[in-house]
Amino acid sequence: MRPGRRLPRHPQPYADELLTSWLIRLAAANGHRLPSLAFHLFGDRSVWSADPDRVFNADNRERLIQATGVPGETVDRMLLNRFEGRLSDRLVGSASPWLLVLSKLGYHGTRRSHLYCPACLADAVSPDDVSPHLSIFWRLAFMTSCPRHGTLLRDACPHCGAIFAPALNDLGPGRDWRRNRHLLFAWCHQCGRDLRVETPPASGEERAFQGRLLGALEHGVMSWSNLGDVPALEGFEVMRQLLNLLFLAGPQHLVSASVPGPEAYPEGSYRMLRDFDLPGRRALLRQLDFLTLDWPTRVLDVARRSQLTRKPMVAHLQQIPLWYDTVADQLHQGNGHRRLLKPLVAHLDLAGIEHWRDHALSAEERRRWAILWHYAQEPNKQAVATRLGVRWALVSRTVATYNAGGPAALQDPRVGRANPGKRLLTPSQEEDLRALLLTTPVSNSELADWIEAQSGRRPADSTVRMYRQDRAVHLRSPEKQARTALKGEYMPIGGSHIRPPVTEES
Ligand SMILES: [Zn+2]
Ligand SMILES: [Zn+2]
Repeated sequence: MRPGRRLPRHPQPYADELLTSWLIRLAAANGHRLPSLAFHLFGDRSVWSADPDRVFNADNRERLIQATGVPGETVDRMLLNRFEGRLSDRLVGSASPWLLVLSKLGYHGTRRSHLYCPACLADAVSPDDVSPHLSIFWRLAFMTSCPRHGTLLRDACPHCGAIFAPALNDLGPGRDWRRNRHLLFAWCHQCGRDLRVETPPASGEERAFQGRLLGALEHGVMSWSNLGDVPALEGFEVMRQLLNLLFLAGPQHLVSASVPGPEAYPEGSYRMLRDFDLPGRRALLRQLDFLTLDWPTRVLDVARRSQLTRKPMVAHLQQIPLWYDTVADQLHQGNGHRRLLKPLVAHLDLAGIEHWRDHALSAEERRRWAILWHYAQEPNKQAVATRLGVRWALVSRTVATYNAGGPAALQDPRVGRANPGKRLLTPSQEEDLRALLLTTPVSNSELADWIEAQSGRRPADSTVRMYRQDRAVHLRSPEKQARTALKGEYMPIGGSHIRPPVTEES
């Protein structure tokens, strides 16, 4: 048959149905074996050897729409891709730690497969034309219980332990789907027995935690203890990072004193949640729930007692959300020094700092002085960063620069200025210089020589340019300086959580 031909019978997909589930039901309804359905639809039997829920090309999508008449958005809803941007940055073409692998046709491996709810498959055996189907949520690594039934999910045959792999239930010899339609997904491909063996209920905590993550997929924001809502993608990324902490011996040991960890670890050194067996994933998710409660008290306690530095706290994050960054910042730097309470060197008193701040010539410079002004009164980098809504690193850099180089080190070299504290030339020398510049052509180096001869100090190139443009003279009066300076503008530095300083004008 030619690809793309309309199928005589096409049961409608359910709202939470997975594409492979619907393809299996299409095959059963039309009496095809799975490879023959794939050939009928796509002209290619090999679709089953890939993971069509995750990788489904545009041509096949088009053929499926033609053959069944379902709208394109219905097909898209059945693909794992629908979680992209919330669960992971990219889901197509790269393995996500949150997605379980698909057991493929002809692949009788022991690799963990996706999940099923025995009660859901049993429910589906109803007279009112509801066929059993596989839920798209059964491919998510954080699922442990059924949201409908509240009972635990399974991922293997309760009789022989074979992985749950419904695509292996093809119309083999002696097997007839037309007689056993209600068992479409519910019998074991290995021992042939019924998979719908009851499971016990999940705990309330376990269901609530899973509900948080499912809610994030649905609404795009994840509720986070003590923070309110955070963007879903940031929430999942931080969860992934915290899971990596739980894979470290120190934190795992500490957390398992309160919540037991996994009993068995998967092979290999690079671990992801999806590589653990179902009991192992349940244990890790309970630990993750424990770690994120009363944020960030527990995670900081565990990190400090395991003597973790900032680095392993952020190692797996490509972009560090600011709300998580401020937590990681409270840990020691990699070199073991404490990050807090380094006093300001007494180059100036508080009034001196205010004077420099009020005469700053750019917003950036003004911000540096504001940082010092706050830090002089409370030498706590984290507190100052939080109060001004700037990154910790900026506070740290500003304090270090000032301590080492004094007030001049904080000047913005791109901005011409009159140094309000110390001037290179006296007013009468400046008059002489203006006369010289008006009457004699001089190069910058000659000008530098002249200034050095008058003042005894070699001026910086920027100072020479400043004098040449006569800006020092124009900027003499404090009123003019104040008018020239950019006032109170706090530019975002790569973050969106910027607030104006609270006590800037006090
Ligand atoms: Zn269920
Ligand atoms: Zn079995």
